[in-house]
Amino acid sequence: MDGHKIITQIAKNHLTDITTKAIAELTGGADLIDIALWPDRIRYVPGYKESAQWHYVNIADDESLDKIEHLPGGDILTAIRRFHGQLTESGGAKIKKIDALRFFIHFAQDLHQPLHVGLQADRGGNDVAVQWFNATKTKNLHWVWDTGIIATKKLTTDQYVQLLDQVSPQKIQEWNHSDFLDWAEESRALRQQVYNFSPEIQYRTVVIGQLYVDRNSAHLEKRLVMAGIRLAGRLNKIFDPGHLGLQF
Ligand SMILES: [Zn+2]
Repeated sequence: MDGHKIITQIAKNHLTDITTKAIAELTGGADLIDIALWPDRIRYVPGYKESAQWHYVNIADDESLDKIEHLPGGDILTAIRRFHGQLTESGGAKIKKIDALRFFIHFAQDLHQPLHVGLQADRGGNDVAVQWFNATKTKNLHWVWDTGIIATKKLTTDQYVQLLDQVSPQKIQEWNHSDFLDWAEESRALRQQVYNFSPEIQYRTVVIGQLYVDRNSAHLEKRLVMAGIRLAGRLNKIFDPGHLGLQF
C-alpha cells in the first residue's frame, strides 16, 4: 500500500473525460498508476540516475523556499516546473511529453509528502531509525510517512479513496488556487508535527506506535487528498483548458 496509489486514484476521479482521453492517447492507454510510479522505478537505472535528486528538496527551517540555491542537477521544485512547462507547451516530441507527464504526476505527489521537503541532515527522514510498533526490522521516518501510517488503516486503495475523496467544490476551488511553492511550503509547515516524538526516543531509535499514528493520520490523509485534487486540477488545466470551474 502506497500513498502514490491513493493519490493517483483520487486524481483519476476528478479528471474530465477530455483530460482522461488526452492522457490515454498520449500514453497509449497506460494505467495512470503505472505512469505515477514509473519515476520511482527508474531512478537508479542508468540514463535516469540524475533524476534521483528530483524527488525532493532539502531546506532548513529558516530558509526561504523561493530564494534557496537549487542544486546544479535540480530538485523537486525545479523539476516540477520544468516538466509542467514541457506539458503545457505545444508541439514537442511525444516521448518527451510522456516522460514529462510521468515525472510531473509523480513529483506533484511527492511534493505533498512532508518529508520530500526535508532536512539535509537526515535526508528527509531516511536516516531517522524507527522502531515501528512491534516490527522486528528497523524502519525509518520517511517510510513511516510513505507507507507505514497508511498501512495501519488496513484498507484497500479503493476503500481508502472512498473514505478520503469527499471534498466540497469550495475546497476543491480553494486548493486549486495554489502554486508549487505553496505545496512545498505546506509540506514544510508540517515539520514540527512530523518530528514530534521526542518523549518516545530510546537508544537513538525513534519509537513510533499508535500514539504517533493517531496524532498524524489526519494530517497525512489531508495531504493525500489535496495532492489528488490538485494533480487533477493541473492535468485538467493542461489537457482540457476549456473546462469550467478550473480558472485560476
Ligand atoms: Zn518519488
